[in-house]
Amino acid sequence: MSVRARQSIIELAAYQPGKSAPIKLASNENPHPPLPSVIEAIAEAAQGINRYPDTGVTELRAVLAEKVGVAAEQVAFGCGSVTLLEQIMHAFCDPADEVVVGWRSFEAYPLVAQVVGARLVPVPLREETHDLDAMLAAIGERTRVVIVCNPNNPTGTAVRRDELVRFIDAVPADVLIVLDEAYGEYITDDDVPDGVELMRGRQNVCVLRTFSKAYGLAGLRVGYLISEDPTVAAVVRKTMMPFAVSSIAQIAALASLAAADELKVRVDEASRERERVGSALRTAGYAVPHSHANFVWISARERTEQIADQLMAAGIMGRPFAGEGIRITIGTPAENDALLAALGAEG
Ligand SMILES: *Cc1c(COP(=O)(O)O)cnc(C)c1O
Repeated sequence: MSVRARQSIIELAAYQPGKSAPIKLASNENPHPPLPSVIEAIAEAAQGINRYPDTGVTELRAVLAEKVGVAAEQVAFGCGSVTLLEQIMHAFCDPADEVVVGWRSFEAYPLVAQVVGARLVPVPLREETHDLDAMLAAIGERTRVVIVCNPNNPTGTAVRRDELVRFIDAVPADVLIVLDEAYGEYITDDDVPDGVELMRGRQNVCVLRTFSKAYGLAGLRVGYLISEDPTVAAVVRKTMMPFAVSSIAQIAALASLAAADELKVRVDEASRERERVGSALRTAGYAVPHSHANFVWISARERTEQIADQLMAAGIMGRPFAGEGIRITIGTPAENDALLAALGAEG
């Protein structure tokens, strides 16, 4: 006899770290280093790391709740929003219960579902965008959770307020709707809704957000959930492993919220640059759907590998999905210039 892991885990493909390159546009990170005020707060917090963190994330939860206009009971923090997704599935899915998602979307969805033992039901995108009617039709007896990634990773597309409201109101009341807004801060189109506003008065809706992208704290791992029904946030808090959100992450998130105006300048730059890069690529003949996030998607299909190679030759790493397309993060203006030059799309 020997030890044996669950078969579904043995079959999991191990995470493949990206290749390295001088210009890294592969992971949708904020290209700027943390603000000096945030680094200072981290350095000060380092003095106290012999102590366990506040496992209730009390202060950060109160400040965040006040900022978005909800009660602290409606908020749960986690070690990145990926971990919150895992907590949601643990809290809501028995084995073989279903999670409906649009596909292609965030790579963590199938991974988390498989680790938890939930069954993922991927619904193909239509014209690179969530097909909400098809997703509605895919919801069945065993569906416990449906995820709408808005804007969608990796295509950058977003669903509009009217269609999302229609969808939410048609989803059965016992199915939890998760609006993954990891890139919500980059939205500039008024027709793309703010999930927290949509959530109000709709008991089965929650929103996932993160400090990893717009706030530039990807390395610290801190994200949060906001739910209309406080019992949703409460069960998600219950599934958190004790002390998962480190004291340094909590302090850095607080310092980042205090510096929101300074950070907004960077987010605005990324949104402007996204428009510039997207339109230059389209002018040069690439198929690039309009993005609402901090990345663009080239729908390159069978040319994906060739474009990825072309970028690597220029020292630029994007995120190719063989046969589908390549996602390229918006970097600094100079990095974006290098990207456009590498693809023959300057000007
Ligand atoms: C990057 C990303 C996240 C954020 O993950 P963290 O664990 O908070 O770093 C969540 N959802 C999507 C769709 C993402 O692309």
